[in-house]
Amino acid sequence: MDRDYKAAMLPFFGEGEIGSWVNGAMMPGRGDAFALTDPATGKVFLELNDAGPEVVDAAMKSAASGQRVWWGLAAAERGRILWRIGQQVREHLETLALLETVSVGKPIRDTRVEVLKVAEMFEYYAGWADKLHGDVIPVPTSHLNYTRPEPYGVITQITPWNAPVFTAGWQLAPALCAGNAAVLKPSEMTPLTSLALGVLSKKAGLPDGVITILAGLGMTTGMAATTHAVTRKVVFVGSPKTGAAIAAQAAANIVPCVLELGGKSANIVFEDADLKRAVLGAQAAIFSGAGQSCVAGSRLLVQRSVIDRFLETLVDGANRIPVGDPMDVATQIGPINNVAQYQTIRGLIASGCKEGAKILAGGERPEGDVCANGYFLRPTVLGNVHNDMSIAREEIFGPVVSVIPFDDEAEAVAIANYSKFGLAGAVWTNRVDRAHRVAANVRAGTFWINSYKTINVMSPFGGFGHSGYGRSSGKEGLMEYMQPKSVWTETAENPPAGLGYAPE
Ligand code: NAD
Repeated sequence: MDRDYKAAMLPFFGEGEIGSWVNGAMMPGRGDAFALTDPATGKVFLELNDAGPEVVDAAMKSAASGQRVWWGLAAAERGRILWRIGQQVREHLETLALLETVSVGKPIRDTRVEVLKVAEMFEYYAGWADKLHGDVIPVPTSHLNYTRPEPYGVITQITPWNAPVFTAGWQLAPALCAGNAAVLKPSEMTPLTSLALGVLSKKAGLPDGVITILAGLGMTTGMAATTHAVTRKVVFVGSPKTGAAIAAQAAANIVPCVLELGGKSANIVFEDADLKRAVLGAQAAIFSGAGQSCVAGSRLLVQRSVIDRFLETLVDGANRIPVGDPMDVATQIGPINNVAQYQTIRGLIASGCKEGAKILAGGERPEGDVCANGYFLRPTVLGNVHNDMSIAREEIFGPVVSVIPFDDEAEAVAIANYSKFGLAGAVWTNRVDRAHRVAANVRAGTFWINSYKTINVMSPFGGFGHSGYGRSSGKEGLMEYMQPKSVWTETAENPPAGLGYAPE
C-alpha cells in the first residue's frame, strides 16, 4: 500500500513544521518527539514534538485574550464567522477526509460523511449565535430581574483517536457559538485533522487565539491544559478511566466537566422484527468504524426463537464484508487505529474464549497482502456468551460482537441494563407498544427503534452511568458552554429601607 503522506498534509500545513496551533500560527512543541503511524501499513509517517507545559501556558494566555476579542464581537458577526468555518470545511471536504483516513485508518467512505457532519455542526451553531438571550423573571418584588447567558471563558477540550475530526467539530462549534475560546488537545495518535481545523478557521476570519489545537501527550500536554488556571471548564471525550482522572484533576481547581465516555450498548432483536433489516442494522452497529465507536452495538441480544436463523445470516454477512485498504471506496472495514488497541482487542477475544465463548466468524487477521502489515482484524461474531463474561462487560472497541440469547421482553431489558455503561441501545420489533416500552426502560442516553447509529447535531447526545455526564450537540450541548448571570435592578420609587443608617 503506497501512500503520499506529504501530499495529504500539504493543503493545510504547506512545507512548514507542524506543531501546535497557537494564536493563529504553528508553534513548535518543546517536549519529546512522538510518532504518527499509518494504521493500514504500520509505517511511521511523521514525528511531532509534544507541546509541553510552556507551549500550553502561551496557548492559554492567547486563548484568554482571543476570547475577549471574540465575546466583544456582535453575536451576528460570530455567527457569520462560524458559518464561514463550515464553508471552509465543505470546500476542503475531500482533502480533510483523505488526511483523516490516512491517520485514523477509517475508510474514506466514512470519513467523507464525518467531515460533512463537521461542516453541518458549524452551520447549525452559526444559526444559534444571535438567538441566545436570557429571560425576564417575574420576581414578586419591586425589582426587575433578568438573566444573561455568558460564556465560561476558556474551555479545555480533550478528544480521542477514533473520530478526531468529528469530535473536534462537535465540541469546537458550540463552544465558540456561546462566546468561549477553545483549547483542544486531540489524541496524540491522530492530531492532524484537528490542526487542519485550526488552519481553516483562520481562513474563515476567526480572530487569533479563539481556537487553539495542542499537539501532544495526555500526561504532559493534556494534564497541563486541564489543570491550567485559565481553564474554566473541561469537556472530555474518551475512556472512562481517563475521564475519572480528568474529572479529579479539574475538581482540584473547582472546574466543572462534561464527560463523554465509553459504552457497551445492547442491540435487542425480537422475533417479531423485520429480521433482514435487523441483521443489516446489527452489522452496521458493530462493524462500522471497525467497532471503534463509543455507541457500537457490542452486545447483540436476540430472542431465542429466532437466534439460529439470525446468526446464520449474521455470520454469512460478517464473512463477506469487505475489509482492506481504507483508501479504497469499496472498503467497509479498515484497520484498528493502533497496535496497543489491536492487542487489547485480540486479548479480550482470547479471554472470552477461555470463559467459554465460541468464535462463529472472524477472530483473526484477514488473508492477503493488503492486510499483512497494518492492524487488521476480520469482523468477529462470538456465540455462547453470557452477560457475566468479560467480553460482555468490558468495552472492546473493536469489530467484535457478543451474541446473547433471551426469552422475553423483561429478560431482554434486564440484560441490557446489567451494565455499568449507559450510552446507547436499540430495539428491533414490529410492535409499536413494545418498541416504546423498551425505549423507556433501557438506561441509555440515546436509543434507536428499528435503526442504529443515526445521530444529528440538532439532537442531544450523552451517557448515563459510567458512560459519562453532561450533554453534547443540540440545544443541550450548547447550554453546557454557557452560564447564566442573574441581574437585579431596583424599580420602586421609594424602596423600603433595609438595614443601615442614612442621614436625614
Ligand atoms: P483515552 O481516554 O485513552 O484518551 C483520550 C484523550 O485523553 C487523549 O487525547 C489523551 O491524550 C488524553 N489524556 C490521557 N490522559 C490524560 C490526562 N491525565 N489529562 C488530560 N488528557 C489526558 O481514550 P482513547 O483511547 O483515545 O479513545 C477511546 C475511548 O473514547 C473509548 O472508551 C470510547 O468509547 C470513547 N469515546 C467516547 C465518545 C462519546 O461521545 N461518548 C466518543 C468517542 C470515543
